[in-house]
Amino acid sequence: MQIKNICCIGAGYVGGPTMAVIALKCPHVNVTVVDSNSDKIKAWNGSLNNLPVYEPGLAEIVGKVRHRNLFFSKNIADNIDKAEMIFMAVNTPTKTKGEGAGMAADLKYIELCTRDIAKYSKTDKIVVEKSTLPVRTAEKIKEILISENKTNHFEILSNPEFLAEGTAIQDLFKSDRVLIGGDQTPSGQKAVQALVDIYSNWIPLNRILTTNVWSSELSKLASNAILAQRISSINSLSALCEKTGAEIHELSRAIGMDTRIGSEFLRPSVGFGGSCFQKDILNLTYLCHHYGLHEVAEYWHQVVKINDYQKARFTQKIIDGLGGIVKNKKITILGWAFKANTNDSRESPAIYVTEKLLNAGAFLQVYDPMVKKKRIIEDLKNILETKGSSSERINLLFKQVSIFNDLKSSIDQSDAFAILTNWDEFSNYKRETIKDKTIPVFQI
Ligand code: ADP
Repeated sequence: MQIKNICCIGAGYVGGPTMAVIALKCPHVNVTVVDSNSDKIKAWNGSLNNLPVYEPGLAEIVGKVRHRNLFFSKNIADNIDKAEMIFMAVNTPTKTKGEGAGMAADLKYIELCTRDIAKYSKTDKIVVEKSTLPVRTAEKIKEILISENKTNHFEILSNPEFLAEGTAIQDLFKSDRVLIGGDQTPSGQKAVQALVDIYSNWIPLNRILTTNVWSSELSKLASNAILAQRISSINSLSALCEKTGAEIHELSRAIGMDTRIGSEFLRPSVGFGGSCFQKDILNLTYLCHHYGLHEVAEYWHQVVKINDYQKARFTQKIIDGLGGIVKNKKITILGWAFKANTNDSRESPAIYVTEKLLNAGAFLQVYDPMVKKKRIIEDLKNILETKGSSSERINLLFKQVSIFNDLKSSIDQSDAFAILTNWDEFSNYKRETIKDKTIPVFQI
């Protein structure tokens, strides 16, 4: 079966870059990305300097293929109907209410877009799960589709995204592997082949791995859990280094040069962030408990607990370093994104550290080269609300925060600097520009 039209639901960090690369590499396929957020669609159709997602190399690709075979539209109904293959790339945050709150993935957006697919499809479809989902979600998607659309046949594939924010385009160009899970039935295998045919336009066949749906769904959670586990491992050792006089960067280098271990994901930091790691591990933990595997659940949960510990430890390090009191002290927060080369701040350690320092009475100056002021304000407001601050208190706390558009003006008269994101410009800055060597710089 040759795919001519793809529709992707969700124009975010996963949907946007993935579809841009598919459109670039498959000029014979029309790719339309739809989203219920019409402002986002407007921005994807607007200036290349202001796309909703920042990724090195993304704007160039969008500039090349937009209106050629890549389209962004708010017309969800028509584009579902037109496509033979539909990707689901909607967000799956951790549940905040109900059974599994704080642990399980909230599938309400998946459910809504599944209902849209059932409602608007007038022909058979291949539905591809791109969002990270708990194991056996495909079953639920199928149930909804079958009960709400009795005339068409749906095949569900799992094709988890392994791209890393900050290097998404390179990751999509040269994927270590593309994983496609499908039913073992003849029609399931035909659907798998249709997706293999898309990826094989640029990915060598020996890197396209086909599995059953459940292995594919679980592989995504397991990969993220193991990556995050490496970060928590090195971060737990950073605490021991600070006690013993060992140097964590030296340790990380020494360990990473062992070819059995490798150097990736061994960089010490204030903690991991992003929309996936914490969410996926909590989800894995929840799944293990669900199946009665409580020891396994606890093992993985510890990775998240060490991450929380590292953020709290870093905040305390700042407070202790400033004599135990930060009230009325001016601290410059360098970096808001959860890591360098992205404008994504979801679950960023900077949010957590800032909230604690604000509540302790510090005055904060925040600068990030890519995260917009509006986003920083929203993140702060959300965390303060989550922690139970009233709106009067939030307004008061905001008087202690200034957000800057450039590095130079953010540093005036600081009592301390805290480097929260490892953007290159901060490491250069630290070495060359901070003339007053008495001002403390906190960094892991
Ligand atoms: P991710 O990192 O998983 O890509 P994002 O939040 O960046 O997550 O993107 C998910 C996108 O999916 C958002 O732009 C959101 O508006 C969109 N979305 C969520 N639910 C629906 C839905 N039912 N129909 C269409 N778009 C949706």
